[in-house]
Amino acid sequence: MTTPVTLIPGDGIGPSITAATVRLLKAAGASIAWDEQVAGMAGVARYGDPIPDATLDSIKRTRLALKGPLETPVGEGYRSITVALRKTFDLYANVRPAHTMLPNGRYTNVNIVLVRENTEGLYSGIEHYVRVGDDPHAAAESIAIITRFGSERVVRYAFEYAMKHGRKKITLVHKANILKYSQGLFLDTGRMVARDYSGKVEFEERIVDAMAMNLVLAPEKFDMIVTTNLFGDILSDQISGLVGGLGLAPGANIGVNGAIFEAVHGTAPDLAGKGVANPGALVLAACMLLEHIGDLERAGRVRRALETTLTAGKTLTRDLGGKASTEEFTDAVIAAL
Ligand code: NAD
Repeated sequence: MTTPVTLIPGDGIGPSITAATVRLLKAAGASIAWDEQVAGMAGVARYGDPIPDATLDSIKRTRLALKGPLETPVGEGYRSITVALRKTFDLYANVRPAHTMLPNGRYTNVNIVLVRENTEGLYSGIEHYVRVGDDPHAAAESIAIITRFGSERVVRYAFEYAMKHGRKKITLVHKANILKYSQGLFLDTGRMVARDYSGKVEFEERIVDAMAMNLVLAPEKFDMIVTTNLFGDILSDQISGLVGGLGLAPGANIGVNGAIFEAVHGTAPDLAGKGVANPGALVLAACMLLEHIGDLERAGRVRRALETTLTAGKTLTRDLGGKASTEEFTDAVIAAL
């Protein structure tokens, strides 16, 4: 059965890593009918709109998208196109897995899935300046919104993910010792949800600053993490650094009515047009998409081919210390398939 999926190549390095990923999935025999659409600067160029209706309509129809990184045009009224897409489809859980794939790295045994709340917290977009005397920007206020509803559904998602994927432990990361109301509500709600899974999935709590240190000292002690929006953004980049950097960090944005799969990294303007970006993160995001649509066998095969190529170490992109182009790296992964 062919699955229709919206494909958004994106900006900067997006089109080249997307083309590489599509080529790889085709070589793996994936049954996907891509509906290619634009967003970000490419959306502005084609339709004068960074989130064109045609793209939204396509995602509404397919409920699935693979998306390259997007540049947010200045002055279009959006903080971030990617954040706007997550909000439009209420994609409340951002799943960011990371595990050691490169040999001889600093850490050998990292295997962590971080689940980040994707719609609330300090990314709610409620900000303003406060005028004092003549200075219109004398102070600034950013409001963090945490709701019991939003906290409960993301923590429950994390526990359900743990049950489905055989994960043993969830660490809830917070800062409730200082932000007693907003972070306190997230923590209280998390404890309440955890009781429903008692005896099935272990539950522990960590304050975010201690967590940052613990992740560097002993990342192998952590299995799954669930946390609020900003902490999840920061810690997931930290964790990607433990396993080889942004070039290998995928993410899935999951909601009730859809899912968007993407690389965690941005458009890498310094590499755009040079054909040297690492497509690994988007390939891993595509593996998450394959798993999501139930094609576990093919997801495993593509992932193993990527790992084989990384372990062989002969054809690596520059971010991983090699000299290969995006195309050469992709050819090597296809050969490993
Ligand atoms: P970035 O992730 O684009 O780049 C950070 C560093 O990582 C750069 O040195 C870059 O060369 C490197 N890098 C990133 N992806 C790589 C890859 N696949 N292969 C090799 N090296 C890679 O972050 P930035 O520079 O802060 O942001 C650039 C633009 O991307 C901004 O416009 C930002 O808004 C946007 N952005 C978009 C998303 C998204 O759409 N999900 C996420 C983050 C940033």
